[in-house]
Parts: sequence; C-alpha cells; structure tokens
Amino acid sequence: MLKDYEFWFVVGSQFLYGPEVLETVATRAQEMTDKLNASGNLPCKLVYKVTAKTNKEITDVVREANYDPKCAGIITWCHTFSPSKMWINGFANLQKPYCHFATQYNRSIPNEEIDMDFMNLNQAAHGDREHGFIAARLRMPRKVIAGYWEDEDVQKRIGSWMRAAVGVAFSKGLKVMRFGDNMREVAVTEGDKVEAQIKLGWQVNTWPVGKLVKTMDEVTEAEIDALMETYCREYTLNTDDIATVRYQAREEIAMKKMLDAEGCMAFSNTFQDLYGMKQLPGLASQHLMAQGYGYGGEGDWKVSAMTAIMKAMSEGMTGGTAFMEDYTYNLEPDAKYSLGAHMLEVCPSVAAEKPRIEVHPLGIGDREPPARLVFEGHEGPGIVVSLIDMGGRLRLIVQDIQCVKPILPMPNLPVARVMWKAFPDLTTGVECWIAAGGAHHTVLSYDVTAEQMKDWARMMDIEFVHITKDTTVEALEQQLFLNDLAWKLK
Ligand code: MN
Repeated sequence: MLKDYEFWFVVGSQFLYGPEVLETVATRAQEMTDKLNASGNLPCKLVYKVTAKTNKEITDVVREANYDPKCAGIITWCHTFSPSKMWINGFANLQKPYCHFATQYNRSIPNEEIDMDFMNLNQAAHGDREHGFIAARLRMPRKVIAGYWEDEDVQKRIGSWMRAAVGVAFSKGLKVMRFGDNMREVAVTEGDKVEAQIKLGWQVNTWPVGKLVKTMDEVTEAEIDALMETYCREYTLNTDDIATVRYQAREEIAMKKMLDAEGCMAFSNTFQDLYGMKQLPGLASQHLMAQGYGYGGEGDWKVSAMTAIMKAMSEGMTGGTAFMEDYTYNLEPDAKYSLGAHMLEVCPSVAAEKPRIEVHPLGIGDREPPARLVFEGHEGPGIVVSLIDMGGRLRLIVQDIQCVKPILPMPNLPVARVMWKAFPDLTTGVECWIAAGGAHHTVLSYDVTAEQMKDWARMMDIEFVHITKDTTVEALEQQLFLNDLAWKLK
C-alpha cells in the first residue's frame, strides 16, 4: 500500500558558510517538504530528515534508511556545496532507491539582492554537479530529476518515481503461489526462480492443486452467496447457468484463502493441471486480479508477479492494468491492429463498459464450460511489458501502444478483448518485439509509464529494452548486441 511508505529528503551542505546559513537551509528544506506534501502530486509522504554536513551524518541516515521498512527511498538535494567525498561511505552502503533532485530554493535570480552572500547560500547549480559526480563515479542506480520544486510537472515526476520505488519495495516482499507447473514444452514462461529471487526478491513456490480442491470443498454456501452478491453488483449477469457461476465463486474464495494464508499477492495456474476441479478459473481469476492480485496463465509466474507489481505501482489510478496475451492481428494496410485477449483471464480493470458474466465452452483443457467476464478494453495510451529470462540475466521489454475501441464487435468471441496500435507501427513493432525475445504474455497498463518501468528495471539491476514510436529494427538490433556484451561483462 502506498500509504505504508515514505521517502526521506536528505539535503547536502557543509560548515563552510556558518551556522546561520545552515539554519536557513534547514528551514527551507522543511518548507519545501511541507509544500511538496501539500501539493497532492506525491503518492507517498516525504519526510525531511537532515541537512547533512559530515561523513558520519550521511552514513548514519543511510544506515537508518536501509533498516527502516517504511522508507522506500531517499531523495537528495544539495542546497549549497556539499563536498562529495563525505557521501562515499554512505552511498556505498545505500540499499534503497535513490533520486537526485536537482533544484534550487529560488525560482529567479534577484537583480538587486544578488551579491556574494546570495551566491554562497544559493549554489545548488554548483553543489548538485559535485553531488552528481560521486553517484556517477560509484555507478549508482539513480534517478536524476531537474526542475523548479514548485512546478507541478516536476512534482509529478517525483511522484511518478516514488511509485516505481514502491514497486521495488513491493517486489522485494512479493510471494507468488503456483498451482501446477508451467505448461508443457513452453519456453518463454520458464525461468530461473532462484535468480529471480536474488535479483527481484520474489519468493516463487508451488502448492498442490489437491490442496486447492480440498479448500474449495470447505467453502460454505453462505460464503458463495456473499460473493455472488458482489459479482451481481459489479457485473452484469448474462447467463442462466447460476450453478456454473457459483462454482467460480467457490474457486475464488478458496484461492483467496490460500493466497492470504501465505501472504501471496500473485498466483499462476495451468489448464493442464486442474486435477479435481470442474472448471478452469475464469471469473475467479479475473475478480482476484481486480482486487490487486497478479495472475499468469499456463504457469507463467513471471508475468503474474509483474502484474502484481504494476498494480501496486499504480494503486489508486483508474486506467487499469491487466494480464494480457497477443492473440491475433488485423493486417489490413489502413487498419493494422493487435488483438489481445486470453482464454479467460483478462483483468476487468481495463474494461470500457460493465463486464458481463457469461458461460461458454472452452476448446482446450477438458473441463466443463467456465464462467468468465466478457468486455471490451477502453481507449487510451498504454504500454505492454514482458520479463524474460535470457540465461544469466533478466530482460524487461516495454512497448508503447495506443489502445482503441475494437474496430469489430466480434459477437462470437466469448472472451474479454483489447485492441491496440503498436508503436512504431504494427509490423515493425512485431519485428522489434520478436528480435528482443518478448513473450506472448504481457502486462498491459494504462497507468504505469515506460519511464517508471525503466526506473524500476534500473533499480532492480536488470536489462531494459523500450520499443517506442522512434525505434527502428536496425537500432534495436544494435542495442541488443551491445547489451549482450555489456551484461556478460557486468
Ligand atoms: Mn496464455
């Protein structure tokens, strides 16, 4: 939860200019903190901690930040000149996300007032460069944000970075529950779970489907009645087959009990292991995603975890974030679109309309026709994200997209669907995506930005690839080649 986290504002200075200057710096730092908190542009609380003047003060505040689970990152700024050798010992031990905010207290240079006293007090332009050098020298993963602190766009950039940093904290505590293994023979959904835990913190473990079936058997009719009320309030019931919908409620209640008992915020399952279950969870998985749980089909625990993380990063936003799969294309010259869907499990947070509960047969999986939510995704800019295991390292691929109202009603398609234009264009985008090795499974988000995912990848120390409106196949292939060399040397 965003409200559980805070960020620490650490201001750099030194003793050279006397105690009065330091008092002024501290007063201004507190004023800036108060105004930033009051702006409504920061999703988490900013706490002014210290005007740091010595190696010990910096080392102490870093030690405290590392230790405090509430602290999701530090934001530094050098009000005056803060010699950076005294930051080395602290920075070398920093384990929390770090943003360097290059700003200054005054917006304008005052014509009459400016003299050498003013220059000594207001020299962030100078101090922030010395400060930036040492982070560069230490090869620290960092975010640099420059701009005037009272400008809304600058405040929003800090707020956006805060969400990425909360994604780091969330990731480091994330537990993923796997029901069944990965789909047989599929490569891209596999991965090194030990490496994922070392790099990203994820605890990915398996629980027997038989335990889920036992838990389902223990669900009471009263519990199902209560969840059915929720379904009917949030969705349109478009079937007479109530028993089938109730079975999904039973599945959801049982899965939620198991997830919550273990503290898991993400799960995966596979249609190849539904032993003892009558239906593949459809509506059940969709409604769990709507509550913030991550999901991945066919045992894809990586996309499940990414869904949960991106939902945590975008908490409180309304565009939506969903597990997605590229299914099929419209390749008409004037209307090139991707159609995304899944067998059942697209999160209703991206719906343009009130989703309908429907029951239809499922072509694969050898089970009874499952209930699922059917809807169209809404219009708007977004991204699709895929995390793949390259063997020895993880690669995060992000593509910019523009979602549209589906150009066809597709009345016989019995699943939720989202349609989008991919950048730079459909086929170049597909060539880039395939060149990079991106999966068919993605997380589609209207809320999380590519910049936030880049920040997250940098903080997690994993490779980042971004396909934008300006990407060419040639440039991307060159980048992938160089990345491969660089990551072998790292
Ligand atoms: Mn799939």
